Amino acid sequence: MRLFIAIRLSDEMRDALVHAQNELYDRGVRGRFTAEENLHLTLAFLGEVPDAQPVLDALADVSFTPFEIALEGMGCFGDLWWAGLKESEALELLARKVRHALAEREIPFDRKRFSPHITLIRNASGKLPGLQLRPASMTVSAVSLMRSDRGKHGMIYTELGAVEARR
Ligand code: ATP
Ligand code: MG
Repeated sequence: MRLFIAIRLSDEMRDALVHAQNELYDRGVRGRFTAEENLHLTLAFLGEVPDAQPVLDALADVSFTPFEIALEGMGCFGDLWWAGLKESEALELLARKVRHALAEREIPFDRKRFSPHITLIRNASGKLPGLQLRPASMTVSAVSLMRSDRGKHGMIYTELGAVEARR
């Protein structure tokens, strides 16, 4: 199975992101728009893993306290367009803790530098226009292990487990 570790987004964040997607669509942008229920922030990408249990065990080792994240700006990696996040030391630290927990258990993951982004459109047409995101923020109180399956009508993400923040 194909696994990744992510922060699931609040309704307020999703609303702001869908609003931006709609605005882009209205401006003529076409591509594969991330479905509202699939919007997420990836902390680590594992790829094919035979057994989820060691990953769940690693995730359980991650200890963090709740913190805020907020949307800020848009950007692109080629034709993949994303919404960015306000710089956050707590977010960087959480990604580091997650990756450290995986490394400790010798679970392979993509070690590319963490570059926090929420994918809005893949294979986007044209050039990213200047667009203001509607302000939105949320409290991060859990990190989820997600399974990614290719469905008939796009990707299907399923939560396999989560670690909650300590209060
Ligand atoms: P598709 O690959 O069909 O476009 P997807 O990217 O939504 O769909 P996955 O490829 O399973 O689905 O990726 C799940 C999550 O992991 C996404 O947030 C994706 O951006 C991220 N991801 C995928 N591959 C990598 C990678 N090599 N390094 C870092 N993150 C990745
Ligand atoms: Mg992908």
